[in-house]
Amino acid sequence: MSRVLREKQIVKINNKLSFGERPVMIAGPCTIETEEQFFETAKGLKEIGVDVLRGGAFKPRTSPYAFQGLGEEGLKIMHKVGKVLDIPVVSELMDETTLGMLDQYVDILQIGSRNMYNYALLKVVGKTRKPVILKRGMSATIHEWIMAAEYIASHGNHNIILCERGVRTFDTYTRNTLDLAAVPIMKMETGLPVIVDPSHGTGKRELIEPMSKAAMACGADGLMVEVHYRPEEALCDGPQSLDLEMYKKFYENVMKK
Ligand code: PEP
Ligand code: MN
Repeated sequence: MSRVLREKQIVKINNKLSFGERPVMIAGPCTIETEEQFFETAKGLKEIGVDVLRGGAFKPRTSPYAFQGLGEEGLKIMHKVGKVLDIPVVSELMDETTLGMLDQYVDILQIGSRNMYNYALLKVVGKTRKPVILKRGMSATIHEWIMAAEYIASHGNHNIILCERGVRTFDTYTRNTLDLAAVPIMKMETGLPVIVDPSHGTGKRELIEPMSKAAMACGADGLMVEVHYRPEEALCDGPQSLDLEMYKKFYENVMKK
């Protein structure tokens, strides 16, 4: 069967926001830790002009002994803060069993790098009409990533936003190697909006602004950046997180024409 994804696709989140028309800025902590942490971070981000809040509740940690996220309690915090501040929210869906739960609390589902090859999960998300951010597998070829998007689309859901988040290479200086050539390639191949995550893509906060500018220059439809109100206290990914003051400068520098 031939591929279903070809035409340019605008992905609508609500009446005010869609991906593929203007740059969409997503920001928030790696993980929702407490109501205070999420609210204070979110409030600052909203004032700066962020379009969508991010935050993990079910976290795919390399070690089973690392903090795994607050689960449903985290999603409840996210939902409440999103409503109070009137801003859409996105969180990662780790498995099929929590799809119903995520669906209630978030506006956009995220399929993380580790689950890009989880075809059962891609199929169930494909049967919904919920917008989904599909991150690139950390060792996925362009072809494998296109086919993962096709799994979702061929089951009926074309509300897909692709996210380049870096791939594993021989180099260990950065956490991953951010493959920006993938941005125009995926846009041409699928017609879908493509965003870039320079936080996981580099693992280093000082590289977020230069790589974000490069991402916008090559046609990215948005950016997903990790921000924590106190990065030094973050339970996850502090070293790659910006604080609110840094994010404000970053936002102004990246958005100015
Ligand atoms: C995330 O964005 O929370 C995350 C875990 O990223 P990735 O799946 O790209 O590693
Ligand atoms: Mn993270």
